Amino acid sequence: MYDCMIKVAINGYGTIGKRVADAVAAQKDMKVIGVSKTRPNAEAFVAKQRGYPLFIADISKKTAFEKAGLAVAGSVEDMCRAADIVVDATPGDVGATNKPLYEKLGIKAIWQGGEDHEVAGFSFNSSCNYKEAIGRKFTRVVSCNTTGLVRIINTIDHEYGVEHVHAIMVRRGSDPGEIKKGPIDAVVLDPVSVPSHHGPDVQTVLPHISITTMAMIVPTTMMHMHAVKITTKREVSREKVVDLINHHPRMGLIKKSLGIKSTAELKEFAMDIGRPRSDLIENCIFEESIYTDRNEISFFQAIHQEADVVVENVDAIRAMMGTEKDADRSVRMTNEALGFVTIQNNH
Ligand code: NAD
Repeated sequence: MYDCMIKVAINGYGTIGKRVADAVAAQKDMKVIGVSKTRPNAEAFVAKQRGYPLFIADISKKTAFEKAGLAVAGSVEDMCRAADIVVDATPGDVGATNKPLYEKLGIKAIWQGGEDHEVAGFSFNSSCNYKEAIGRKFTRVVSCNTTGLVRIINTIDHEYGVEHVHAIMVRRGSDPGEIKKGPIDAVVLDPVSVPSHHGPDVQTVLPHISITTMAMIVPTTMMHMHAVKITTKREVSREKVVDLINHHPRMGLIKKSLGIKSTAELKEFAMDIGRPRSDLIENCIFEESIYTDRNEISFFQAIHQEADVVVENVDAIRAMMGTEKDADRSVRMTNEALGFVTIQNNH
């Protein structure tokens, strides 16, 4: 326990919020001051079971929560007043509507990738721009796909210089719990026009990177799959690329020996090795797919949409609070507190 624990509020206890809450609770230098819900559903009971004080967005719904057996600690405003920093994990576009509240209370805030870059004016990834987040009032943690892209692009850029990236995203249709979303039987171009929004989003973190992205949505809930081709400024060595990935704290290698060639088998493996919620925090890069030829690298990587951004939120908290100025140390603290080791160390 640290003398001065960072008090964190989680506004929006859904897919991302519930994971961020658990990740924050696991850290030695932070504590969860409360989480918020709009209605008394199964996730609210999980919050109760975890011992997180439950705050609600609309205080007039207090009776409905109490009738369901859920004690209400107060309003979202009460929760924010008690915190040093709020992680806003409300649905995309809802987060921006909370900004006036955070400004009124003078509280630091982190938004997620469903919001535009402009909501915070700064987009974050701990491997790329941790130092720029130090002491900031507002930050946006980029989306799951963008997080997966910037981790690897930045690594390759440092070693070889990136001339251009071409990435194709095959996106999951919905998260496993989202029963009303599709598609059920279609491949949906997202959008038909090129580029998709992912390229410009990468540039919110790495503005100098030239990138073209295309995306489509398919009927699966497990993970996204990226097919990536990077053209480099200097000639690449496959062995070195594998080594760079191997030594990155949040990039993993799926080795041939594992015999895995799908997102379904990956999630099964994550379950079997006892990952909480079967979460895959790291980029899951298929080692056999890594192909190099002079100034070109191509590979497949699977990205678990519900998980990769969670650890980035924890690092963003530390950077913004200014309690840890070194990115590598923060990443190590976050990973260690979660008992997280990259997937190649499990096979
Ligand atoms: P979600 O719908 O699973 O969870 C959002 C939660 O916020 C729900 O519990 C909802 O009840 C609550 N909520 C809604 N309105 C609220 C309000 N006004 N005040 C307080 N709480 C409110 O959403 P999610 O998938 O966790 O997404 C949250 C953010 O994270 C979005 O910006 C999204 O784009 C981003 N994100 C999502 C994923 C993903 O795959 N799920 C991945 C990366 C980033």
